Amino acid sequence: MFAKILIANRGEIACRVIRTARRMGVRTVAVYSDADAGALHVEMADEAVHIGLSPVGESYLRGDKIVAAALATGAEAIHPGYGFLSENPDFVDQVTAAGLVFIGPSAASIRAMGLKDAAKRLMEKAGVPVVPGYHGEAQEIVLLASKAREIGYPVLIKARAGGGGKGMRRVEHPDDFSEALSGARREAKAAFGDDRVLVEKYVDKPRHIEVQVFGDIFGNVVHLYERDCSAQRRHQKVIEEAPAPGMTPALRKAMTEAAVKAAKAIDYSGAGTIEFIVDASQGLKADRFWFMEMNTRLQVEHPVTEMVTGTDLVEWQLRVASGEKLPKTQSEIALSGHAFEARIYAEDAAKGFLPATGTLHHLKFPDTAPEGASMRIETGVRTGDAISPFYDPMIAKLVVHGKTRQAALEALGISLSQTEIAGSTVNTAFLAALAADADFSAGDIDTGLIGRHQQALTAVPPPSSEIVAAAALAASGVGAHAPTRDPWSSLAGYAHFHAMARRTRLRYGEDDILALVSMRPDGRFQVALDAPYDSALDLRAAPRLARWPGHVTVFSGAVGYSFAVPDPLARADEIAAGADSLRAPMPGLVKLVRAAKGETVIKGQPLLILEAMKMEHTISATHDGTIAEIATEGAQVTDGTVLVRFAEEAHG
Ligand code: ADP
Ligand code: ADP
Ligand code: MG
Repeated sequence: MFAKILIANRGEIACRVIRTARRMGVRTVAVYSDADAGALHVEMADEAVHIGLSPVGESYLRGDKIVAAALATGAEAIHPGYGFLSENPDFVDQVTAAGLVFIGPSAASIRAMGLKDAAKRLMEKAGVPVVPGYHGEAQEIVLLASKAREIGYPVLIKARAGGGGKGMRRVEHPDDFSEALSGARREAKAAFGDDRVLVEKYVDKPRHIEVQVFGDIFGNVVHLYERDCSAQRRHQKVIEEAPAPGMTPALRKAMTEAAVKAAKAIDYSGAGTIEFIVDASQGLKADRFWFMEMNTRLQVEHPVTEMVTGTDLVEWQLRVASGEKLPKTQSEIALSGHAFEARIYAEDAAKGFLPATGTLHHLKFPDTAPEGASMRIETGVRTGDAISPFYDPMIAKLVVHGKTRQAALEALGISLSQTEIAGSTVNTAFLAALAADADFSAGDIDTGLIGRHQQALTAVPPPSSEIVAAAALAASGVGAHAPTRDPWSSLAGYAHFHAMARRTRLRYGEDDILALVSMRPDGRFQVALDAPYDSALDLRAAPRLARWPGHVTVFSGAVGYSFAVPDPLARADEIAAGADSLRAPMPGLVKLVRAAKGETVIKGQPLLILEAMKMEHTISATHDGTIAEIATEGAQVTDGTVLVRFAEEAHG
């Protein structure tokens, strides 16, 4: 086994690889761009090397710098993750020429599958069924149009160098062919520098079902069953699962045999995925599936396969790359239960899934899996990290496993509703709506499902009066200096030192909201709301919420309702002046704790140091008193988190 490897990637996949390497006793080297100097993968790795500016072309796509970093740190092998250089055969050549091992297939295997048209020709020869269509060399528009007519409409024009759903156009009618072709070519030229296309029959009620394969350098190839990735938007995967719902023994046998045959045809070693398109218009039939493409790398959705087969595919990658045989034979690989993966993205589902950016002021995943299920959170970000415009806006993959599809789906819904993210627009509500969709629940899926149900899946119900009132209370500052963080808990003995009614202004989208927040003698709160809410509420139950500069986000199910609060500075001052507890003025890391629980401190005494925005901030005692509670060193906190709480008698 290698003593040290370099991971030529970032984000969740870099963290994922580091975790397995560490468990196996393999040391790790991270690489990072300017934007990622403080990123989680850099923190997690044993060593890290800066490789350039934030744009990928200046850093994560610079094979030369990455190879140099591996040589300089004494790494023996390079794991490419997915994306970036993972399917670039020239990079593989560069790596091997430097005397290093590429953790993945050979450059020749990658080349064989790199272009969709050539890959289809090769698969045809190997006896693997391919999607009916034209995948020849000639590219004259007249020829392509006549091929499209032969194939029969609707057809799909695809960039042969394509990936990530780019350079694709579905065409319904011959009249639209030439315009769609120009569009696909333009997009393909811009994204891949290659405008050649293939034309395929657009499969009826298409389901995307793919097979995980694994090979070693001794010529052994096994499959690890299938994943269903039919839940897609813009030809991109949203929720993946394993096994495929409704899979029949006959189709599974045919698909897995075809996948192994495909991998063997190119002497494949390492992790790979054979993607098939299946015509599900008459149920799943063993003669209605066709090869689309092979991804010669670890796939984003590999964790669902790990969950149902009890394997660690990154461990397998490291073993195979270091010259070991496959850890298991085909007969030792069994399926157990059902798994889902939901891709949590910073994006605005309601605005056509527009990518979003922002700072993750609040980021909280469920602590434990729902009863009877297991769960994995694969993420590369922490509270306070930014989703920058430079990279893929994925925040996390939420992966759940249950005994049955129904149990796993319930666990997915529960886990999504317990996930709290504030600071950027995210797709958790959309994912939860999809998980609860009647057709999706029934396993009646195809790649058009999200498009057909888009309106319902992306509609966010307006906030209830209770949600608005909770936001108003949090924004008002009334109760903010209560002895505990939770303003809804008992506040006996509190009323006499604070003014108890305050007018508060909030914004939700375009709506201006006026609220009057007051505390009642029994310590509960009353919030009166102006039009359009026009109500007075008595707040009892503590909702889940996050406060961040200028905003309050109230969580309800998987929806985060974000309210803007004008004049955040005034509130920050107010918090700083608070007598009985000290709160973090911004998200950060508790760097140093200088006082202990039970200690008596004097006004002005430094209590702890908070590191935020790359600067240190000293939090000092605002008055004499005894410390009842203090944050722990190394804790990541959000703004508003109580850092220090004084004992009652200090001011009582
Ligand atoms: P898969 O085919 O593995 O299911 P997708 O097609 O959805 O995955 O996305 C994988 C592709 O998206 C990668 O090949 C890459 O182009 C891009 N990508 C997504 N996330 C990242 C990331 N964190 N880093 C680099 N590339 C990424
Ligand atoms: P990419 O390299 O962008 O992943 P793919 O060839 O894998 O390109 O296709 C992406 C998606 O487009 C598939 O997952 C599927 O949903 C859809 N698709 C591809 N080919 C067809 C087809 N012939 N008929 C219907 N849908 C298709
Ligand atoms: Mg694909």
